[in-house]
Amino acid sequence: MVKTVCGFDVAIVGAGFAGLYMLHRLRGLGIPARIYEAGSGVGGTWFWNRYPGARCDVQSLEYSYSFSDELEQEWHWTERYAAQPEILRYANHVAERFDLTRDIQFETRVTGAIFDDTTDRWTIRTDRGDLIPATFCVMATGCLSTAKVPDFKGLEIFRGCRYHTGHWPHKGVDFTGQRVGVIGTGSSAIQSIPIIAGQASHLFVFQRTPNFSVPAHNGPLSPAVTRDWEMNRNEYRHRARTSRTGILHEWGTESALDVPPEERDRAYELRWQRGGLGFGAAFSDIGVNKEANDTAAEFVRAKICGIVRDRAVAEMLLPKDYPLGTKRLCVDTGYYATFNRENVTLVDVRSTPIEEITPAGVRTSTAEYAVDSLVFATGFDAMTGTLCSIDIRGRAGAALKQKWSQGPRSYLGIMVAGFPNLFTITGPGSPSVLSNMIVSIEQHVDWIADCLAFLRQHRLTAIEPTVDAENAWVAHVNEVADSTLYPRANSWYMGANIPGKPRVFMPYVGGLGVYRQKCDEVAANGYEGFTLSAPAPEADRSVDRP
Ligand SMILES: Cc1cc2nc3c(=O)[nH]c(=O)nc-3n(C[C@H](O)[C@H](O)[C@H](O)COP(=O)(O)OP(=O)(O)OC[C@H]3O[C@@H](n4cnc5c(N)ncnc54)[C@H](O)[C@@H]3O)c2cc1C
Repeated sequence: MVKTVCGFDVAIVGAGFAGLYMLHRLRGLGIPARIYEAGSGVGGTWFWNRYPGARCDVQSLEYSYSFSDELEQEWHWTERYAAQPEILRYANHVAERFDLTRDIQFETRVTGAIFDDTTDRWTIRTDRGDLIPATFCVMATGCLSTAKVPDFKGLEIFRGCRYHTGHWPHKGVDFTGQRVGVIGTGSSAIQSIPIIAGQASHLFVFQRTPNFSVPAHNGPLSPAVTRDWEMNRNEYRHRARTSRTGILHEWGTESALDVPPEERDRAYELRWQRGGLGFGAAFSDIGVNKEANDTAAEFVRAKICGIVRDRAVAEMLLPKDYPLGTKRLCVDTGYYATFNRENVTLVDVRSTPIEEITPAGVRTSTAEYAVDSLVFATGFDAMTGTLCSIDIRGRAGAALKQKWSQGPRSYLGIMVAGFPNLFTITGPGSPSVLSNMIVSIEQHVDWIADCLAFLRQHRLTAIEPTVDAENAWVAHVNEVADSTLYPRANSWYMGANIPGKPRVFMPYVGGLGVYRQKCDEVAANGYEGFTLSAPAPEADRSVDRP
């Protein structure tokens, strides 16, 4: 049955960190808003990704909201890198503390959003039959929220159990005594493989592309670290907001090629011992100069060879055909050492591809591997997949999916020409997945909230980027990406994990601090690059209407 819902101005899609903060900011402005969320709870990524070993790879103290002093003071992280259950508790705590759930409709998937040129309003359609009119629509749908299972022949006839890391059963899975196959060796696989190996009778890891991974050295947060954070929090938060990635790395200022090899290795060793993503920031040119990058890559390859005892297995685990960091650098706990276990077999499916899933397991071009359970750690249709799975129609019925068929186009990664009043939080063309995403989320939400306040103040009802501004931004995003090593990898940043997806580098690599400045300048210049419109006199639908 179709139900028309009334009574608010902004429809928000998604109740992850982005949607929750968006709702909170709009409440503060007195703008009626409501979230529609496909899941039965808040937390987004941390609601869905419950696989063993799931945890953040940005340190918990930094991977958290900064908008509320009280929230910061009352929440205490237990580990350097919090595990999924703790991050999900945090999301729930935020939702309760700010009384957000009363404006969230759960278990409701938004299936379409249509813009009406004559009224300047969106109508959002859900799988529950709701038709929701709203002046503004905020897509807080996440960059990594559409899980991708490869289309293997025979998938349906597999007799065992199948799981995707991005859709893990809430009651958990005990693999004790089972033969398990994990397909994929990206970040989720690298986190889960050591734990699954500890339970399974035998684990087969099917690897197409080896990844670079650095140790987490995770553990309980020491009182000294917590005290330091509490004392200097404001300064740390400020630094993160204006930094390149939203992460408090100590960025090396020298070229890796300007220091003697022993000194360079000492710098890498220090960062390897510290653990975490800071490894990739050891020198100024690791991301832009292949020769400099090779020194970091070679250091990690030597580490892998030092950890993995079997020479042939170590050789298979060495990433060789893309620069370090151009696919997401992984952060692990005991990943490489897991391949020293008797019950773990690494299968190279680059040289012996998977041909089909059989009732009993996985058949490659040379062998069949019998398993009781299959885990797909095959990632996501990143950045555009979720938005394109919603039937979004802008001016004159134009489909977003069609507009983005050759790659995403947007202005600042926030709005799209031809789709007025539709905002994308951490959309393609913004730093998003190359940053600490909570810092990026807060920046986008604040920008959008300020924009809506501006529109209200000036009694305007519509905002839309010009095609020229969008073209210039897309060109800039590409130009910056091309000045780095990123486009050299077949990564999900490039859409390379999805057959048929255009190869376009999607996130903005120019740096979060620089990007923030650009967004602020655009706003300070009266929303430069946007067309703002007032309502027709007889139909004032501005956001402060009674
Ligand atoms: C395993 C994993 C680990 C990660 N670790 C880190 C990390 O350490 N640091 C970091 O910065 N980032 C990390 N990320 C990225 C992470 O996605 C972001 O940090 C952040 O959680 C994104 O929040 P979000 O609200 O933008 O999106 P999400 O958390 O993805 O939430 C989007 C929500 O929208 C809902 N939704 C989508 N489409 C619809 C629809 N059509 N209708 C209704 N609801 C819909 C989804 O159900 C979901 O709940 C990680 C991602 C994964 C998958």
